[in-house]
Amino acid sequence: MAFLHNPGDKMLVISHPKCVSCGGCVGICPVDALNLEEGRDLNVDNEKCINCAACVRFCPVGALKVKKDGKEMTIENSSAEK
Ligand code: SF4
Ligand code: SF4
Repeated sequence: MAFLHNPGDKMLVISHPKCVSCGGCVGICPVDALNLEEGRDLNVDNEKCINCAACVRFCPVGALKVKKDGKEMTIENSSAEK
């Protein structure tokens, strides 16, 4: 699992054991913040990520979460508290 910080107090958390490297989140990110290294290991560019949670909604296996102050946020409040 990787913890990747943003300038704010929220962070996108990737659960690598769950990720099946489908690449869908990479294509859906509006700011091109996600990439699959060697087509396998998902990474997020914390300089680019705006915590929009589009990738969280998209992921078919629930491998992505947005956390704030160490607590997992729901899709609803992660979108509302940009
Ligand atoms: S939360 Fe939004 S900006 Fe950040 S990686 Fe996911 S889709 Fe991209
Ligand atoms: S959508 Fe989910 S399973 Fe697919 S690459 Fe992204 S994190 Fe991995």
